[in-house]
Amino acid sequence: MAPGTWHKTACNLCYVNCGIEVLVNEGHIEKVRGDRSSPKSQGYLCNKAARIPYYAHHKDRLTTPLRRRADGGFDAITWDVAITEIAERVRDLVDRHGGKSLALYGGGGQGNHAGGAYANAFLRALGSRHVFNALSQEKTGDFWINGHMFGSQTCHTAEDVHHCDLLFVIGANPWIAHGFPNARDHLNQIRKDPARKLIVVDPRRTETAEMADLHLAVRPGADAFLLGALLATLVRSDLIDHDFINEHTVGVAEVREALLEIPVEEWAAAAEISMADIERCAAMIAAAKAMVVRVELGIQQGVNSTLNSYLEKLLIMLSGSFGRKGTNQLHSWLQPLWGNSPGQKFAPTGDEVIAGLLPPNIFPEAVLSDHPDRLRGVWVDSSNPANTASNTKAVERALRSLELCVVVDVAMTETAQLAHYVLPASSQYEKTEFTLFNFEFPTNYFHVRAGVLPPLEGTLPEPEIYTRLARALGYLPGDNALAPLREAAKRSRSEFAAAFRAFMGENPSAASVAALVLYQTLGQTLPDGTAAAAPLWNAALSCAKRSPQAVRRALGAPDDVADQALGDALFDAMIATRQGVAVTQHEYDEVWSLIGHPDRKIRLAVPGMLEWLARLDPESAGAPREFPFMLAAGQRRMFNANQIFRDPKWRRDDPDGALLINPADLSELGAKDGDWIAVESPVGRLIVRCKTDGSMRRGQLALPHGYGQAYPTPSGERLTNGPRINLLTESGNRDPIAGTPYHKHVAVRLSLLPDHEAAVHQTRSERIHASAAAG
Ligand code: SF4
Repeated sequence: MAPGTWHKTACNLCYVNCGIEVLVNEGHIEKVRGDRSSPKSQGYLCNKAARIPYYAHHKDRLTTPLRRRADGGFDAITWDVAITEIAERVRDLVDRHGGKSLALYGGGGQGNHAGGAYANAFLRALGSRHVFNALSQEKTGDFWINGHMFGSQTCHTAEDVHHCDLLFVIGANPWIAHGFPNARDHLNQIRKDPARKLIVVDPRRTETAEMADLHLAVRPGADAFLLGALLATLVRSDLIDHDFINEHTVGVAEVREALLEIPVEEWAAAAEISMADIERCAAMIAAAKAMVVRVELGIQQGVNSTLNSYLEKLLIMLSGSFGRKGTNQLHSWLQPLWGNSPGQKFAPTGDEVIAGLLPPNIFPEAVLSDHPDRLRGVWVDSSNPANTASNTKAVERALRSLELCVVVDVAMTETAQLAHYVLPASSQYEKTEFTLFNFEFPTNYFHVRAGVLPPLEGTLPEPEIYTRLARALGYLPGDNALAPLREAAKRSRSEFAAAFRAFMGENPSAASVAALVLYQTLGQTLPDGTAAAAPLWNAALSCAKRSPQAVRRALGAPDDVADQALGDALFDAMIATRQGVAVTQHEYDEVWSLIGHPDRKIRLAVPGMLEWLARLDPESAGAPREFPFMLAAGQRRMFNANQIFRDPKWRRDDPDGALLINPADLSELGAKDGDWIAVESPVGRLIVRCKTDGSMRRGQLALPHGYGQAYPTPSGERLTNGPRINLLTESGNRDPIAGTPYHKHVAVRLSLLPDHEAAVHQTRSERIHASAAAG
């Protein structure tokens, strides 16, 4: 048997966050296996998780705070100097321009949200609520629709894939990208069961589409036409669920009228889907006893993304596929991961603030405009906008023009290279972490993880970083003032609760940094080094108050346990287990209580959406003449995981992040498989290796996300591996409401490279991979 110790933790590579066990030997993660005791994932593990050691141990970790010099280089400085200087510069900025001149960008990664709680607290203490993050790069169109239909932007649909007899997948490839627990197990079960069906809408014949009973290979960017034609067919054929609609919804008459206006044949033709397939699809939906709809970035980052989210929800509601076993539902939260901000605007650009978030696509404008309230400082926490936000050149220009940019991260990211200060954080396996991606219904889970590795020397976990900053700025009371709270926490939870309430009453200015107060007091009494999970105490109390019966069922607690004691019991259960625990367990019919509208009815007619639907022009589908290829920028593949892996060695295949292209398109271009070719958009040019793929439609291209990062060679030179895809994307190519990028619809053209230019890229690729292998 291998030496070392197995520790329970979670995979941080996608938002499913499966429970895993890691074998730690002499401070190194050596092996990874699924954790069978995880109540959520029950031992499931995909190919990516086995490569977690490459995240945990690599050569690009930061081990000291850095300050940028005028010549662009960096000096190593001590933590004390870094905190003092940064606090002075923050204070100066706030004095001159107010706290709202600063924004937070990021605040946690895939399943690592502990740091985000503290970063947000710090931002609020400064007097700002401006936050950009990955959610507003992907999901805020969906949140906006949820706000209108369900009554709050924090209402969020769950998918009971486990029990459905029809899984309808739109713009997603769960075989590769997962996105719901134990995805491959469920897909295999559906495939083997003749009573269960799978429909996939995707331009590409994906791995999931290969398994489907019906694959609708929609023209890229024409999802709204397909969904509109399908909905109109359901209405015309009277295949909608009148009982469900009458009992649970409002506004069907306006929706019906709008759908009946759709010229179905014309829209089907625009989507390049035959009427026979649309009718077959409608018949399968009508025949299903329980359909669940699963969507992802294929439509949420596609053209008309907010409208797509609306049409997807109409499909769920008109077919009555909601609120029952095997359908879509809403889920309860331990703590909502985003907010509810209907009607709020961000003054410098006039864009809507959705779910409390600002879209990364407006970041350059928010900084570079001459509006008096423009952003002048940005605090970047666990995020890499220089690689992930649209239009890399504009983002870099914005970062360079800031009066203050501070990056908190584990590695020297492309954004860190442009910051004034860089603060080295402990990695996600070196500290207490948790995820707020808890989207399950009827049973929802929460997983508090303790660090499984010692923090790398020179790094600090985020609660420590923000404690020091908040103290330097005078936002957090000193240790002596907090000592009585800590003592009360040692004596009993009820004494702590009373002392905490009294303290907050006497120190109202500490409310914004309550997370730090809890970390410094209650946190210091928690087992297993889980101090950073202390802010979850408030979340557990609120959850028990909102959903007492569901919490009681989850914990097996008797009816006579009061809500306060129930909240404490929930918190203790989360803190005590390392494999995760059920936090709410609902009955299916409780889903109606999760709707935000007071009458608990779903609003089908959403202002603005029916007008948008009426404006859709089939003539607009398709690529412009000058840029005839449609690129999906940011495809998920077997070996990519956002920006989290920097070591090129972690990939088992696709070392250069190849451009996928239909073989006929490549041959027409005069190139062959493996050649280097140029991809050009209106804002940039990239040289990429190409790879033929028969699953791609003619005219369709795909590049992966998660590449374009510099990694040091043994000599210290930094070489960039694979495409920085946002060199091709435009900030303005975005949804008119949510501002989310149309990354799945980037118009580009291709050209051959002269031999000498191709040779340069071939040599560079060989050097990157040879040096990674040598390291
Ligand atoms: S499905 Fe996601 S969370 Fe689970 S092991 Fe794979 S990458 Fe990790």
